[in-house]
Amino acid sequence: MRDVIIIGAGGGGPIVAKELAAQGLDVLMLEAGARNKTPETNWKHFENDANNPLSGYLRFGPSDRSKPSWYREVTQPAMISNLSGVGGTTQHYFGNSPRAMPGVFKGYQGDDAQDYDRDFEFPFSYEELTPYYEWVEATLPVQTAAMGTSEQVFFNGCENIGMSVQVTKDTFQDGYRAQQNAVLQPSGNAGRTTNKSDLTYPLAKGCTFCGHCTQGCYEPLNAPRNLKARRSTDNSYVPMALTADLWAVQGKAVTLVADAYVTQIHTQQINGKTTATGVSWRDVNTGEIMTENAKVVVMAGGCIENPRLWLNSGLPNSHDWVGRGLTDHAFDFVCGIFPFNTDSSKGVGSSARADFPGKGCIEPSSLGPAGLASNLMMSDSGIRGMYDNGRGVFGEWDGPSGRLIGNEFKNFMSDVNKTMGMLIITDDDVEANNRVEPSSLMSDEHGAVPKMTIHKRTRSQRTLDNREFLANKAASILRAAGASEVLRIDIVPLLLHLQSSMRMGDDPQNSVINANGEAHEVAGLFVADNSALSNALGGPNPTLTTQALATRTSEKIMVQYFSGTPWVNSNEPMSSIDDAITQAVLARGL
Ligand SMILES: Cc1cc2nc3c(=O)[nH]c(=O)nc-3n(C[C@H](O)[C@H](O)[C@H](O)COP(=O)(O)OP(=O)(O)OC[C@H]3O[C@@H](n4cnc5c(N)ncnc54)[C@H](O)[C@@H]3O)c2cc1C
Repeated sequence: MRDVIIIGAGGGGPIVAKELAAQGLDVLMLEAGARNKTPETNWKHFENDANNPLSGYLRFGPSDRSKPSWYREVTQPAMISNLSGVGGTTQHYFGNSPRAMPGVFKGYQGDDAQDYDRDFEFPFSYEELTPYYEWVEATLPVQTAAMGTSEQVFFNGCENIGMSVQVTKDTFQDGYRAQQNAVLQPSGNAGRTTNKSDLTYPLAKGCTFCGHCTQGCYEPLNAPRNLKARRSTDNSYVPMALTADLWAVQGKAVTLVADAYVTQIHTQQINGKTTATGVSWRDVNTGEIMTENAKVVVMAGGCIENPRLWLNSGLPNSHDWVGRGLTDHAFDFVCGIFPFNTDSSKGVGSSARADFPGKGCIEPSSLGPAGLASNLMMSDSGIRGMYDNGRGVFGEWDGPSGRLIGNEFKNFMSDVNKTMGMLIITDDDVEANNRVEPSSLMSDEHGAVPKMTIHKRTRSQRTLDNREFLANKAASILRAAGASEVLRIDIVPLLLHLQSSMRMGDDPQNSVINANGEAHEVAGLFVADNSALSNALGGPNPTLTTQALATRTSEKIMVQYFSGTPWVNSNEPMSSIDDAITQAVLARGL
């Protein structure tokens, strides 16, 4: 019998694992995908080899790449960018770590309070979460992004349209700024050369500016795992969790089992309440089924898999809210072509941002050629200049929106370093109809597969208005920065920021977990990943807030089930790049 079982080792699960292991609990973390112990030898910078959603080494599927990826039913054109494996989808992420907009929390008093989705606010205040933000920012750590030419071009555009620079981490008004990101600042040779032999640790430390974040970060070469530049959880919280006995006074190392797909959460009636007692999982390689009991079970399988697992396990769903209220930041993609070099393929690719409280955010977002080509292809408005699905967006754009083809596409792709793509990250309303549910058509070896419904064409008017506002703003910034042409893709639902499918709230009629992160209807069952978020955060990238919330939930678990005392307000956090962690990582050969 374990103290705690955590399902999923992605953006959220390892935070709870590390925090509770540091308090001395016996923690088992189960991950459906692979654990990649030697990324330097197994990963490459080739985009298709890494990112192909069907066969890439970063995909949602088993570690054996000769086997198919795990299927999801999608009810309309959409692109799901979601990974299995230790680190989960953070193996892809850019590490952008802004805090949520204060306006999405309970008790917000700003003049713009009504600009947010007030029906689905967080059940506590922004100030309450702030110490947990600070704790995670120190642990990862989060730093001000290293920047280059493309960020300068973006800032010029923002300044030229009269925006002001934002100098705090808290977003109360429109502004542009450097990203706060979970990527180590370059030092030594890093960022100064492209000569590989000079970019080896310890000659180079931090981000080497290779520009290949989405293929998984394994640079600088030879750096201990906890000193790889990008702070995906496989490089930060997981090494801490696996060595907690070596660096925390009363710590106990987490047991991590990869290739372990949880298919059932077990419950019993205890004191008249449905109570979680353990889980069963399937060994993905052998098919063997294993069962283990625990006092507390934490779901951290992400927004798609958590509702599937809950409903396939037959857990109570009295108000039919499990899997509902999924938000996805209603992205769009707006691109500029420049008569000068933007160097957009270099560096982290998204080191600057502009925020618009009540509406959302804009990020310059550089991708490798394949990633860029794929973004230019995924339009909901048909083919630019040929047909428009009734959605063609005219006006201040250079022609209709839509997918690029032919010479226009070739021209655009001929030099990615003369382009700048901007991701439109819209604050979108929680809506019951946007949901994940088990498919009635398809099952695999882990039960009925998840069916995703994203009602793009019936999003709330506020969400649609936000998207238009931000897309137009991005066009103004690009033009003011010197773009000679500006294109809008009207991208299909691009599901890489997923939130709130098991949302936190006070009212069980429209939420799954309470303000402590525990299920309203199942005692001892907690949720600690993006699905726990109450809403779309006002637009900011979600992972930092998930991790702050998971830290808070860890304290609640410790106090409620293990007679512990909270630690965030009384202790100093240990950074994942501290020498003590490096020594522990080397001692354990991680
Ligand atoms: C290209 C890209 C760029 C991004 N950039 C950013 C960024 O800059 N900033 C930001 O904040 N966010 C970014 N994101 C989003 C970020 O990756 C997610 O917010 C984050 O990973 C979500 O964490 P999670 O724990 O909810 O889910 P995941 O990270 O997806 O982790 C869930 C894990 O649970 C496992 N799992 C699922 N079901 C089971 C089961 N039944 N049994 C066992 N294991 C299971 C999965 O295999 C997976 O490893 C980006 C995403 C993409 C695709």
